[in-house]
Amino acid sequence: MDKKTIKDIEVAGKTVLVRVDFNVPRNKETGEITNDNRIVAALPTLKYLLAEGPKAIVLFSHLGKVKTEEDKAKNDLAVVAPRLSELLGVDVKFVNCTRGAELENAVKEANNGQVILVQNTRYEAGESKNDPELGKYWASLGDVFVEDAFGSVHRAHASTAGIPAHLPSAAGFLVEKEIAYIGKAVSNPERPMVAILGGAKVSDKILVIENLLKIADKVIVGGGMTYTFMKAMGHNIGNSLVEEDRIEVAKEIIAKGGDKLILPVDSVINNAFAETGDIKVCGEDVPEGYMGLDIGPKSVENIKNALAGAKTVIWNGPMGVFEMEPFAKGTIAVCEALANLDDANTIIGGGDSAAAVMQLGYADKVSHISTGGGASLEYMEGKVLPGIAAIDDK
Ligand code: AMP
Repeated sequence: MDKKTIKDIEVAGKTVLVRVDFNVPRNKETGEITNDNRIVAALPTLKYLLAEGPKAIVLFSHLGKVKTEEDKAKNDLAVVAPRLSELLGVDVKFVNCTRGAELENAVKEANNGQVILVQNTRYEAGESKNDPELGKYWASLGDVFVEDAFGSVHRAHASTAGIPAHLPSAAGFLVEKEIAYIGKAVSNPERPMVAILGGAKVSDKILVIENLLKIADKVIVGGGMTYTFMKAMGHNIGNSLVEEDRIEVAKEIIAKGGDKLILPVDSVINNAFAETGDIKVCGEDVPEGYMGLDIGPKSVENIKNALAGAKTVIWNGPMGVFEMEPFAKGTIAVCEALANLDDANTIIGGGDSAAAVMQLGYADKVSHISTGGGASLEYMEGKVLPGIAAIDDK
């Protein structure tokens, strides 16, 4: 990586500001953390920093969306402090504000590597706007900045891009790992390289399909966005998901993609968006009154053939409505095909495909599951990620 990492900077005796991604899922009723993967993912960086003997470690993270006072109550970051303390094995001081004397004094008085967790960065209206005053203020609290919130690096916010504009900065281990896997796959892949793109909407994935068509040897499309492509080819799609305003773009992608682009040739359909009903398999045309909810068995075979011998695979988006058992087969088949590849670099973009791989029990069979859905997509689109760009070059 051409950016500095925490091993390149001196932190002993310093106040280290760290942007982490503690945007954890919580139970809607009780507010309890339901999955602490994101806290666990930050531990290598935090443990390394602690061992280097800093004066203090000040952690910044957002939690949920904050627009109203009610949102603030719902997204109070205090819930993370005890779990982090338990996982890290040290006391974590939670500061219930994002600026002012209480925060400044807590940082000033800290010593021996005291870990301080600042309240939700989105309590500040200027966070999402990358208000320069806010980035400068937060930067004034520390000596160095570490970016380890991969899930947020595609956003130019005060805590991701504002702070590092004023401080020496480096990537944490999580960001370094994500960039190493995804960066290699998109800039210098071992071939053959296959990209698999699914999920609900074409509109979310157009740019990534276009960019990966330039890079990959094959691009496989599945999921709900299949039907916009099917309609573009003149097939009947019944009540399947479709984005009418993307049909022209789908036609362009089909023309550009040529043999590289592998579209489904059959579907598992139902007469309702439900686990029960008149579930059956159809070919390229979906009959009236039915909707396509998974790729069919011939498409699965085509995907297996396309993946045979692949050395790099990037996968983003499930092949069907995998949350419903009758429509999970296509997604499970992709998981199995990836698990059976010899010696391949298999990378799962975050979001729903990451959830599918974990839920279906294949997490330890792939090389890398990204912690950032949006960030990994934008990276694969070839975009500059502001939170990465802001880190000092080596
Ligand atoms: P995305 O967030 O775009 O990756 O989309 C993931 C969602 O797409 C999952 O919740 C799937 O249930 C949904 N999905 C996949 N295939 C279909 C389909 N054929 N029809 C409707 N939704 C689908």
